[in-house]
Amino acid sequence: PASPSSDFLGHPKGVYVCFFTEMWERFSFYGMKALLLLYLTKYHLFGDKAGLDLLGAYGGLVYCVPVFGGLLADRWLGMRKAVVFGGILLVLGHLGMAFEGHAAHRVGGEVVRDDTALGATYLSLALIVMGVGFLKPNISTIVGKLYPDRADGSADPRRDSGFSLFYAGINLGALFASLVCGFLGEVYGWKYGFGAAGIGMLVGLGMFLWGQKYLQGHAEPPQPAALRQRIAGLPREWLIYAVAIAGVVPVAALLWAAANGAFALGGEISLALMLMIVVLGGVLLWFAWFTGTRCTPVQRQQMIALMVLIFMALVFFTLYEQTYGSWVTFTDRLLTKDLVPSLVIRDGTPLPWSIASLLLAPLGFVAAARLSERTPGSGAPRLLFAVIVAAMLVMLVRDCLVLPQTAGSLTYLGALFLVLLAPLFAALWAWLDRRGLDPSKPVKSSFGLLFGALSFVPLALAAQHVGATGQMASVWWLVLAYLVLEIGEMCLSPVGLSAVTQLAAPRVVSLMMGTWFLATAFSETLAALFGKLAAIDVPEGGVMDIAEAAARYEHLFWLLMWIGLGCAVLALLASPLLK
Ligand code: GLN
Repeated sequence: PASPSSDFLGHPKGVYVCFFTEMWERFSFYGMKALLLLYLTKYHLFGDKAGLDLLGAYGGLVYCVPVFGGLLADRWLGMRKAVVFGGILLVLGHLGMAFEGHAAHRVGGEVVRDDTALGATYLSLALIVMGVGFLKPNISTIVGKLYPDRADGSADPRRDSGFSLFYAGINLGALFASLVCGFLGEVYGWKYGFGAAGIGMLVGLGMFLWGQKYLQGHAEPPQPAALRQRIAGLPREWLIYAVAIAGVVPVAALLWAAANGAFALGGEISLALMLMIVVLGGVLLWFAWFTGTRCTPVQRQQMIALMVLIFMALVFFTLYEQTYGSWVTFTDRLLTKDLVPSLVIRDGTPLPWSIASLLLAPLGFVAAARLSERTPGSGAPRLLFAVIVAAMLVMLVRDCLVLPQTAGSLTYLGALFLVLLAPLFAALWAWLDRRGLDPSKPVKSSFGLLFGALSFVPLALAAQHVGATGQMASVWWLVLAYLVLEIGEMCLSPVGLSAVTQLAAPRVVSLMMGTWFLATAFSETLAALFGKLAAIDVPEGGVMDIAEAAARYEHLFWLLMWIGLGCAVLALLASPLLK
């Protein structure tokens, strides 16, 4: 049961533990993701297509395995143990990525690769896939459990704003990742970038182990005796770990197959995608059975409403994933890069200040949490916390403005807006709630889709401008697009996570969380399909036809805008029913 001392700044302390753990997990995740394609193409000399195929299979699997991680936590492990186990796999995987071996080179037109190093890469990626599968859905579920329903059966109104804060943690990690890992990896060497991700995850695991006492028993195994029960001589808990570790090898094989175009149907549908489709089919069958036979009528309606929200997330993230695809190539080809060119440090090594704040933040939280226990009621811990957050933001903004930018590093804009908007939205939902005006979750999600769609308008206009003038357009169009997109993400994604924890039948919360991420697995694939509409092949030694490129991007951006808008209107019309 919650005691007053278990709250800090109006939210359970456990939420902050999840916040920092997830911040580090996402730091390692996005830091590695930022480097992966470059590492494959520049160090191991993969072509763009093979590199993208591997990236696609990895992206799909990493968001598909949470279905299993969620299922196992719901039924046997409980969320806390699942997070710790996933965290250990992630530390191993990220550190494994730091093993480079020899760079590939050409001998008479033939590419000679270091197979041991590549094998280590596939295994490390597979460890990360498994680690995310155990950690990601379950840490999100824990946040929801920290806001149990109130005594009269009504929902805790702080839940949506709690998820907004948690989501800020996710994006703080993503933001640091593009600034720190991308920088270390490209300036000092791949192993330093990947190694930084591994050390980040180690800090995250340490944070969780230290802070698990604040989870107030909400994340424990549902039937501890069942975990100790022996099967084939091993306690069930250890059997689960053993099977998951053994599963790393087939996952690594799937990644290898994707990179080598092996066993792909029609050269396009990789084994990994086939597996995702099988998992989706299984989830849908299970869903029909579960809602048909295992739910009360109210639960059934809630589960169906949740499925619709998950479908909306699938559409939203298909739009959103363009930021890592067509938005990057568009920026690279047709936009200026530096926000304020006169501030950018171009000479020497402009070391990111964010590295310092990465060390400062968790220490600051631990200090503030301890202080609040020693001196209950005093304002000092809050002040300390505010100073730390402010210092972090100053360092971040400094790095965003003065570090030289590339199309890839500008993806930090998304995370930056998210972090800046999260406190505003947390306050907005609370403020609306106090006035009895809090919009329902379907309405919030419809607005998410609407803003997601509208974010393509500035980019379409920028493309139009390039087409008309033949000149690069300003990077500030991209800034505007990200601002609008992130308002959308704020309305849909944290709200969706919150909805999962609130609407899923109690025994299957983590599994439904896994299903939420499964939607993203498909979004990644769909986003790539759409993105190919603006794939531009410049022949070797040739020059890109700017007007033609601009026209293609403009077409893609308007198309996605209308698809998003159409879905948003449908969702809005359906929202009274969903509510
Ligand atoms: N940026 C979010 C995260 O990394 C989005 C995940 C998702 O649901 N697609 O958690």
